[in-house]
Amino acid sequence: MTKQNVVMADSKSGMNMSITVQVTNPYKILTELEINGGSRINAWLDSMRASSPTHAKSTTSSQTNTMNTTNDHEHEQSSLMVRQPSALKMFDQITNASKGKQIVMFLDYDGTLSPIVEDPDRAFMSDEMRRTVRDVARYFPTAIVSGRCRDKVYSFVQLAELYYAGSHGMDIKGPPQSSKKYKKGTNRAVLFQAASEFLPMIDEVYKELVEKTKSTAGAKVENNKFCLSVHFRCVDEKKWSELAQQVRSVLKGYPKLRLTQGRKVLEIRPTIKWDKGKALEFLLESLGFANCTDVFPVYIGDDRTDEDAFKVLRERGQGFGILVSKIPKDTNASYALQEPSEVKDFLNRLVEWKRLSLRRQFKI
Ligand SMILES: [Mg+2]
Repeated sequence: MTKQNVVMADSKSGMNMSITVQVTNPYKILTELEINGGSRINAWLDSMRASSPTHAKSTTSSQTNTMNTTNDHEHEQSSLMVRQPSALKMFDQITNASKGKQIVMFLDYDGTLSPIVEDPDRAFMSDEMRRTVRDVARYFPTAIVSGRCRDKVYSFVQLAELYYAGSHGMDIKGPPQSSKKYKKGTNRAVLFQAASEFLPMIDEVYKELVEKTKSTAGAKVENNKFCLSVHFRCVDEKKWSELAQQVRSVLKGYPKLRLTQGRKVLEIRPTIKWDKGKALEFLLESLGFANCTDVFPVYIGDDRTDEDAFKVLRERGQGFGILVSKIPKDTNASYALQEPSEVKDFLNRLVEWKRLSLRRQFKI
């Protein structure tokens, strides 16, 4: 069991107070990439290619051969795995399992609520999806858990009533007016920053990375406050190795930072044991569901970093994870949805189901 200092902002007095929260089950940190050993670079890139299913769409015709090889590799891998059952097909089973429990909804952003696009600054969610998420939040406490910085993901979602966990959960903030509707025991607004002492170092590395990667066309470094992202989406695949080497050369001087991989992205973050799974546990505690058996958390995400949250749910034996993926993957999620449009359908069905069950309950 680990202890984490938490700043809670009292919504009435406006004062901050520091408390210590016991974070149970400190699960292992994300798969860490060895940034000081050059031999791992090709392994990163192979792995990143395999975890970037949009690869085919964004490749030009002159790269057809490489594209086919990658797709063959993907299909070879995925054909060995059993597809997770569709959360839409299993909808009745899911809602039956949640009976008598409070559903708490956790949603990743990129690739879950919005499509993966070439320019990460233009990863907008549709108005329809926004309406759906707003409806979900009317019935269930809802959190957005993203690798992006909290302000950035808020600027995309624009719903004040949600909880936001940015920078892979290192930066968590609840709605400004803390709702008493769900909270058990406290009405303080939630504010938690797990790695604030790393901020000056991260800013320094950001500047160095921008300078170093300038020579690689299409490379984009994004400052997500507690996490830096180096995007490969617009970089010619032949230059991926060069870009990875540039990132590695900057990180050599910062042993307190580590490198992880996502879909066409390398991410740099502090070496603290904090991830989306910890963020999920923290939010459940903040909502007053720490030791409850009547809670049913649902986490929907498409990325490797979401696996920490899926794993937490599996180990708690509460709720379940839903992986957003067109291909079967090795995952701790229990169900799958193919793409953001299916996520929207699933969430809409959940809202409709809740409305009907409330109507039945109160005989409206
Ligand atoms: Mg994602």
